[in-house]
Amino acid sequence: MSRSRRSGKGVDDQGSQRVLEAGEVIFREGDLGHHAYLIESGAVEIFIERPDGDRVLAQLGPDDLFGEMALVGDQTRTAGARAVVATSLTVITHNLLSDHLDRASPLVRHLLRVTLARCRDALRLVSGVGDGSDASMRTFVMPQGHGADAAGPADRDLAVQRLRMEQALTEAMQRRQLLLYYQPIVKLSGGQIAGFEALVRWQRPDGALVPPGEFIWVIEDSQLILEFGRWTLREAAAGLQRLQAVHEQKQVDDDRLFCSVNLSVRQFGDAKLFPTIRQALIDTGLSSEQLHLEITESAVLNNPDAALELLGRCRALGCHLVVDDFGTGYSSLSYLHRLPIHGLKLDRSFVADAATTERGLRIVRAIGRLAQDLDMYAVAEGIETPEQAAWCQDIGLAFGQGYFFGRPMPLGAAIDALGQAAG
Ligand code: C2E
Ligand code: MG
Ligand code: MG
Repeated sequence: MSRSRRSGKGVDDQGSQRVLEAGEVIFREGDLGHHAYLIESGAVEIFIERPDGDRVLAQLGPDDLFGEMALVGDQTRTAGARAVVATSLTVITHNLLSDHLDRASPLVRHLLRVTLARCRDALRLVSGVGDGSDASMRTFVMPQGHGADAAGPADRDLAVQRLRMEQALTEAMQRRQLLLYYQPIVKLSGGQIAGFEALVRWQRPDGALVPPGEFIWVIEDSQLILEFGRWTLREAAAGLQRLQAVHEQKQVDDDRLFCSVNLSVRQFGDAKLFPTIRQALIDTGLSSEQLHLEITESAVLNNPDAALELLGRCRALGCHLVVDDFGTGYSSLSYLHRLPIHGLKLDRSFVADAATTERGLRIVRAIGRLAQDLDMYAVAEGIETPEQAAWCQDIGLAFGQGYFFGRPMPLGAAIDALGQAAG
């Protein structure tokens, strides 16, 4: 069996056209495959060579693709291809596709490899190469040997890890292992607690508390975010109802408490989200301005139409919209006048920079001024020291959040903190 490294006449690595005469062979079984082909005109037959003559497996025409198995790793060809009549092809190189594959999720890459490995093996069995032995069954499960893509095992590990995480989080939601913690947000002028941000935690059965940084991306990157997002809103509203009751008993501040909930981009397309918000407000008797929805610049800009639709309805209902991690996204300010936003939340990296550099301080001041000029309030995130709290107040920022005022805590502890602070 020949193992030619021929890449084809007139073909460079960027992809190009190939013109063939009737009967011309494009590649043979066992050749190293670097390219796939799209038939522009003419016809191609896929064949395997046997001692008793060629066996034709398929006949293809314009717009058909062939040789595609080579695109996921340079594998050897499981069959040959030959022009039946004068034929013109567009060559699709591995490089052309690998850019797309690099951007796909490891799960998709892994599934593609497994599927192609199975197709190749099925073809081998059909053509009589596979003998049903253990060795051929092994290649059925995982492609090995010459040309195997070095990224394969890494993708497989990531894909398996990702599938396990998604499964574990589905169970965690069913078993109520996800909890909301509440971090105080204070009025910088007087130091009173004005509201809380609801932040999710995963309480493992062994008692370990997993922070969202380790799992929220899996939820946000899957359908789980829809159910999770609705649960978060109902749960946060129920938590705020209890916090508000304590706040009212203390009678130190006429302003009602608010609760901030993080929204993620996929939720903008959730038709059930708005009814869930409205129902949660009815069930708890909260007024709509007590619910603050935190959105990031990148979420809005990734799906602007859906964002505008949902956020417009929420705003019309009376909820507040706050841009989270302001200044760290695309930094396109165009959405600020398209979206009805109430507040800007400065990312904590700005607060940290401002503590150490004059330039950092000026950036915080500029964002504070921007908020003021646009009739919005500013919230400084990540305040860890009394000095940071003091200069955020001097600059004129309305609210502060950070370890200096209180870490995220369970609802019971937040109720206690509120009772003590107000008392
Ligand atoms: P975020 O919305 O920007 O939340 C603020 C994060 O900063 C929280 O991290 C909070 O604990 C942390 N933080 C607050 N003050 C300080 C401070 O003074 N110093 C330091 N070093 N950190 C501070 P957390 O709770 O780990 O949440 C991380 C991110 O996970 C959140 O960032 C948010 O993007 C996401 N997240 C959390 N809960 C939810 C949720 O229910 N839904 C969605 N979609 N995302 C969530
Ligand atoms: Mg947030
Ligand atoms: Mg933030």
